[in-house]
Amino acid sequence: MRSILACEAVAKINARLLERYLSVAFRTLELGRLSFSEVAEVAATNPVLLIPMGTMEQHGPHMPVNADNMVAEFVATKASEQTGAFVAPGLNYGCSDVFRNFAGTVSIQHDTLARLLEEVCEGYIKHGFRRIVFVNNHGGNEIVIERVARILRKRHGMLVGSVYPWSLGYALMRDQYEDVDKAYGHGAEPETSAMLAMFPEDVTLDRLETGNFQKFQGWDASSYAKVRIPGQSVPGTVYFESDDIAPNGVTGDGSNGTKEIGEVWIERVVGFAVAFVKEFDERTKNEAWAKSDQ
Ligand SMILES: [Zn+2]
Repeated sequence: MRSILACEAVAKINARLLERYLSVAFRTLELGRLSFSEVAEVAATNPVLLIPMGTMEQHGPHMPVNADNMVAEFVATKASEQTGAFVAPGLNYGCSDVFRNFAGTVSIQHDTLARLLEEVCEGYIKHGFRRIVFVNNHGGNEIVIERVARILRKRHGMLVGSVYPWSLGYALMRDQYEDVDKAYGHGAEPETSAMLAMFPEDVTLDRLETGNFQKFQGWDASSYAKVRIPGQSVPGTVYFESDDIAPNGVTGDGSNGTKEIGEVWIERVVGFAVAFVKEFDERTKNEAWAKSDQ
């Protein structure tokens, strides 16, 4: 009797040691820095895989055209460090047609991105990665991610997750501004503050401009695709080029942006990303579709 109990105790300790071994055995959580033999060992543990995504597009005269990708990478890396999820190399080109007239914006079509995304995911799936979460930091990619996620659900039974840092920032930072409607916008807030906290050397504040939606051919635009209709409480839909209605690329006032506000952004957005990845890990780790040998 005693020996059976002892065996159970040893088995428990071994299981705990194995768990700890698996969590510390890999020298980095950046998948691209591992060799193929190391990647095979990682895949065998059925980890959550974060895939950063963004695009190359204008973010006002004072912020880098690679901002979406830089922030996706930043948030994915922080979330990885706090959850043990691995980070794949990012997909840095996306669907930004609306900004195509600004220098440095390089846009690919939805079909192109969908095909790329599907083939990249199938590559990871083939080698045993089943638990995929996109850290996508560009709105124009969202519709494509949903399309590919639904294909993977049908084909492999997988649940695919997605986190959108800029969008989380808009939702979580409203209490930081006296006049949130004036401050918020593309190339304005909370983007400027967030970038000042993450990449201060790449924000050229002396180039900062504020901006508003301007009338175009008589239309009173409230976004790149929404227009006010006189006497109506809901907007109509018309598709503009962004520079039709926001010639300097900016749709808000980032002039009061600060590194300190940006640090709140990091705390809240990364905080959500970490909570989401933990929940995704917990909810999916015992599902049959999540196992690399299925
Ligand atoms: Zn974007």
